Amino acid sequence: MSKLFEVVVLGSGAALPTSNRAPSAQYIVCNNRHLLIDCGEGTQSQMRKYGVHFQKIAHIFISHLHGDHYFGLIGLLSTMSLLGRNQGLTIYGPVSLENILKVQFEAAFSPLNFQLNFIPLTANQKEVIFEDNLMRVSAFPLKHRIPTFGFLIEEKGSELKLNLPALKEAGIKKEYFRLLKQGNSIELLDGTLLNFADYTISASPPLSYAYCSDTAPFKNIYSFIKGTTFLYHEATFSNRHKERAKNTAHSTAEQAATVALNLGVKQLFLGHFSSRYANCEEHLSEASAIFPNTTIVEDGMKISIH
Ligand SMILES: [Zn+2]
Repeated sequence: MSKLFEVVVLGSGAALPTSNRAPSAQYIVCNNRHLLIDCGEGTQSQMRKYGVHFQKIAHIFISHLHGDHYFGLIGLLSTMSLLGRNQGLTIYGPVSLENILKVQFEAAFSPLNFQLNFIPLTANQKEVIFEDNLMRVSAFPLKHRIPTFGFLIEEKGSELKLNLPALKEAGIKKEYFRLLKQGNSIELLDGTLLNFADYTISASPPLSYAYCSDTAPFKNIYSFIKGTTFLYHEATFSNRHKERAKNTAHSTAEQAATVALNLGVKQLFLGHFSSRYANCEEHLSEASAIFPNTTIVEDGMKISIH
């Protein structure tokens, strides 16, 4: 099993697609789980360009229904179906997304060949929306002009070691060791439950990646993603357009860096840049002055979470 935790930036721009920056989309591999967060126009072309095998994706998370975050979704789903996908797919997004997709597929008389599950996001607090023995995804509300959600991807159990004294003391048979080490809890025939967490040790602290786009600065973000190790935060504007950021419920690079500083993350990644900027030098210098370990993301960039 791969222990890879990696993000591929498929789109790093804001509202308008440009030749340098496609609208928002990020492909994430976490302990062999394949996820897509947001799916702006052209995402499937970006996937081909950057070598992402999109049929592996089992979960798609849509932050909100501004077009630059989901206009590529219908095209991607259609392509998956045309290429013979039969594995189910789960989409998590704002409530009305389900009907938007339904209308488009019905109008085209082109039902999908695979099972599409839809999980509506409605919470006004952080909530776990997907979890298995190796990772967890939580959604939390951001502060934007329409209902918008951020996502926290947390690995767990990726580096499990057997806790031999605990196994010996409980008299656990060797035949169960491999399953426990892989993070599986086991129910014995007599009904006893062997919880893998009781018999294994995590060798390194679990890593996490928070995706925050789009949002104005707000206080609750600190409780929602406390302890996160890596942060992606929108920085649509530089300080020159602070007023514009406020009026459109977006953030400046400096505001994003303040969030990173207060959270104490390892590294900050900035994206969702307005197409009005020829480059992101202002964003980088304004953010770095507050939080030095800041990276400007580019389309095609691979981020290793380690
Ligand atoms: Zn938006």
